[in-house]
Amino acid sequence: MTILEVKNLNLGFQCEEVFRPALFGISFSLKKGEMLSIVGESGCGKTMSAMSILQLIPKTAKITSGEILFNGENLLEKSPKEMQHIRGSKIALIPQDPMTSLNPLYTVGDQLLEIIKIHQGLMGDEAVKKAVEAFEMVQIPAAKSRLKNYPHEFSGGMKQRAIIAMALACNAEILIADEPTTALDVTIQAQIMHLLQEIKVNNKTSILLITHDLALVSEHTDDIAVMYAGRIVETATNKEFFSNPNHPYSKALLKSLPSNRTEKLETIKGQPPTLAQTINGCKFNPRCDYCMEICKQEIPPLQNISQAHKSACFLNK
Ligand code: SF4
Repeated sequence: MTILEVKNLNLGFQCEEVFRPALFGISFSLKKGEMLSIVGESGCGKTMSAMSILQLIPKTAKITSGEILFNGENLLEKSPKEMQHIRGSKIALIPQDPMTSLNPLYTVGDQLLEIIKIHQGLMGDEAVKKAVEAFEMVQIPAAKSRLKNYPHEFSGGMKQRAIIAMALACNAEILIADEPTTALDVTIQAQIMHLLQEIKVNNKTSILLITHDLALVSEHTDDIAVMYAGRIVETATNKEFFSNPNHPYSKALLKSLPSNRTEKLETIKGQPPTLAQTINGCKFNPRCDYCMEICKQEIPPLQNISQAHKSACFLNK
C-alpha cells in the first residue's frame, strides 16, 4: 500500500531578480513498511525534495506545481498549523546532525517525556515506562539512567538513536532520514542502518532515506531513486538496480564504490551543474561517456525499461 506519493513536483529559487528552477517533475512513491532511498551527489535536489514533503523549504524556494499525497491527502493544501501537527506526529525527520533537533539545555529524557505527554497523553511513571521502552527499542543501554543525561553526554550515534526514539514515541508513520549517518564513523553507520531496518520491519514504519552513499543502502533499501541536477534519472527495486543498473550516471556511481574497486577507484569526471549553469538537453551530457548528438538537444524522458524499472536515457530508445 502506498503511504506517500510525490507527483510531478516542481520547485525553484528566487535568486534576486531571477527565478531558477531546481526540481523538475519529481515523482516517486513510498510504500507502507518499506524503505525508499533517494541517492545522488550533493546539490542534486534530494534534500529539497524531502524537505518539500515536510514544507521545511527555505524562504527563497517556491513549489510551483505538483502534489504530495500522504495517505491520499495533498500536503500542499494543508495550513501551516496542520503541517505542524503532521510533522510532529505523522512524519518525523531524522536530521544529518542530531544536535539540531536536541535542545542542549534539557536532558534527553525530559525531551522524550514531553513528546510522550503530547502524543500519547501519558504522565508520571507511565510516561517514564514508555520512554524507557523507546530507548530500549533503539538499543540505548542502561535506558532508565540514560534518560537523565544531557545531549552533550551522548555520543553522535547515541544522539541519533535518541532522535529515532523520539520519532517512534510520537508514532510517526514515516521517517525521513536525511543523511542520518554522515556524521558518524563507519561501524556506527552500519548499526544505525541496521536499526532503521529493524524499525521498518518490526513497526511497519516507512522510511525515506536521503543519501549520497549507495553502499550504505544496498543491503537495506527496498527501492532506489537516483537524482541528478534536479531530476530523477532512474528508479528501480533494489535487486533490479544493483543487478542491472541502466543510466550511465547510476553506473558511474556504482563503479565509484570501494567494493567495486578493481585496480583503482573510479571517479565520475567533472562536477554536477550549479543552478545558474545552463546545459541543453540531458544535464549529464558533459560528464557522460556515451553522449550522442540528441543528448545535447533534448531532455530524455523517464521511461519504463522493465517492470518496476525506469530510466531517463536516450540509449534506451
Ligand atoms: Fe548520457 Fe545521453 Fe543517456 Fe544523457 S541521455 S545519460 S548524455 S547517453
